[in-house]
Amino acid sequence: MLHRNKFLSNKITNRIMSHHFLRQNCRTMSTRRFNNVKDEDEQYHNKLRRKTENEEAQIYLLKSRGQHLLMNPRVLNTIVQKSNILPTDTVLEIGPGTGNLTLKLLEVAEKVIAIEIDKRMVEILHKRVAERGLQGRLTVICQDALKTEFPQFDLMVANIPYGISSPLVAKLVYGKNSYRSGTLLLQKEFARRLLANPGDSEFNRLAVNVKLVADVEFVMNVSKKDFLPCPKVDSSVVKIHPKTEIPEVDFDEWCAFTRTCFTKKNKTLGAIFKQKGMLMELMKLQETKGDEENNTIYSDYHVNDAEDEDGARNEGNGNFSSTVGKDLNLFKEIINDILRSGGFEDKRPSKLSHEELLDLLSLFNQARIHFHGQVKPMDESEAELASAFDPL
Ligand code: SAH
Repeated sequence: MLHRNKFLSNKITNRIMSHHFLRQNCRTMSTRRFNNVKDEDEQYHNKLRRKTENEEAQIYLLKSRGQHLLMNPRVLNTIVQKSNILPTDTVLEIGPGTGNLTLKLLEVAEKVIAIEIDKRMVEILHKRVAERGLQGRLTVICQDALKTEFPQFDLMVANIPYGISSPLVAKLVYGKNSYRSGTLLLQKEFARRLLANPGDSEFNRLAVNVKLVADVEFVMNVSKKDFLPCPKVDSSVVKIHPKTEIPEVDFDEWCAFTRTCFTKKNKTLGAIFKQKGMLMELMKLQETKGDEENNTIYSDYHVNDAEDEDGARNEGNGNFSSTVGKDLNLFKEIINDILRSGGFEDKRPSKLSHEELLDLLSLFNQARIHFHGQVKPMDESEAELASAFDPL
């Protein structure tokens, strides 16, 4: 889908667009879209101007690709400055567009690798970089950043297309690459979620998954007026720092676990783990896993004393695989016992710290209850990781 009436003329893309031009465009948008002021003269004038400019237009900015170019040099400079780029660094940029940020990165980094999906953007980018004689330090990969294996890099610095924020952040923090930091311009609401802590209303699965392995620092807010075309949302810059010490946990399983816990993040865990559909799915997983492990699931699980005393389920004690695998009620009780034993029954996922969530997962694992199936090949499990961050 095109940004209607918004385009980038060739003339304009060969240099950073003038502030005057930017302001005019943004004011037009805000007047029309945000303030609802109906100034017929202005509308007529804009229509005429757009018509004239459209005739020379070489490239249309695509809404579907999140093509909002960052125009404000002050913001561009701050992003570069806050990224703490060393002269020896290789910077990975996702979605360089026409290169407003790339040109600034090339001034300070040893090398920039840019992944851009749109061939037209790549052409403009090459041209602008060559004009400054910086082409020797730029590598452009013309592909979908989500489907491309990231090359080795020290820092990620990018104004990314907002539509791919979740999987991209997942790919950065859970990817194979070691990196020093990622400075990203994101939709403001998304950034707020990333920055949220347990107990905050915005704290969700995205935050809990990212913050298991990384610290997120707020850098600055960026007005929608600093972009061309002017988007509907404001933005924020955050800096992601990978943690030096990461908990020993299977990340696939962690993401599957938080997906289960955060389906209803404000309900109590007791209520969440009572849902039949979820319990059945979880039980099915244990059966698959049990087959792989020669039916050893639950073999170490012992029902609590009270249940031992009433004798009702003692026949399964020692090896529950055959009984529990087929008995949803018994499985539900086992889960309840686990929640109760850790004091989790009345707690809400949105208020739990990482330590508490890790404790709970460990209690499940001790009872041989796991939250993911077979080990998947890398690309499939990457996709699963990415989807584990959705919906936001
Ligand atoms: N960083 C530039 C442009 C931002 S617009 C600036 O600040 O001015 C987002 C850019 O990401 C666009 O150029 C768009 O074509 C590109 N893009 C969108 N989806 C992408 C994807 N999946 N992989 C790589 N690039 C993508």
